[in-house]
Amino acid sequence: MAIRQIRYDSDPILRKNSRKVTEINERIKILLDDMVDTMYHNDGVGLAAPQVGVLRRVVVIDVGEGPIKLINPEIIGEEGEKVDVEGCLSVPNRVGTVKRPEKVIVKYLDEQGQEKTIEGTGLLGKALCHEIDHLNGILFIDKMIDEIIPEEDEGD
Ligand code: ZN
Repeated sequence: MAIRQIRYDSDPILRKNSRKVTEINERIKILLDDMVDTMYHNDGVGLAAPQVGVLRRVVVIDVGEGPIKLINPEIIGEEGEKVDVEGCLSVPNRVGTVKRPEKVIVKYLDEQGQEKTIEGTGLLGKALCHEIDHLNGILFIDKMIDEIIPEEDEGD
């Protein structure tokens, strides 16, 4: 397991489409483990493979209930909409509001190649949408409604 270098927003790799995983081999499993380590090291809630420079459809998420590893994730259902604040490890020091579905249903393969579905609302729903966007070269700043500028501490 290893911590990989995060790619930042000017890096063209973040704007590319990631390819589907066709074989869940050792290389993909190591990538998933490294991505979990890298996410924790950077205090992130989620990480997509392009953020560590790998154009594969692979995502890891942990909203406080342990890591979830998703291979070839795909949104197959969504409901409602909600505006909430987001940030991104690849876009440091910027936060803003983004409109997302209130609930999403995502189909994916687990590490054993089993097809699974996961339903996400709240933070999990937001993370699923945000990370899947990364696989299509989309950053949250593309969808940002309002940027939140931190207030200057004016002092006395
Ligand atoms: Zn991100």
